[in-house]
Amino acid sequence: MTKNQLLCPQCGSSDLYYESGLVLGYIYHCKDCDYVGSFVIEVDDDDVESVRKDIRASADVSTQDSAVKNTHKSAEKNAHKSE
Ligand SMILES: [Zn+2]
Repeated sequence: MTKNQLLCPQCGSSDLYYESGLVLGYIYHCKDCDYVGSFVIEVDDDDVESVRKDIRASADVSTQDSAVKNTHKSAEKNAHKSE
């Protein structure tokens, strides 16, 4: 008997949980990368490793890109000047 797993399309994690209650139906939320959406990848248990590898290989670039953007926040340190 094969068991299916749901994988995050962004990072390949299987740590998904439902965000329900919307008109659209189920929305999934990934604990690992904060992906939220109704699209997830469903694979056989046997294929999880290879599919996850594919996802990570193709997601690598964009993940690093958004990490770089987060280092931009020290603009306010000279806001105060005493007289
Ligand atoms: Zn994810």
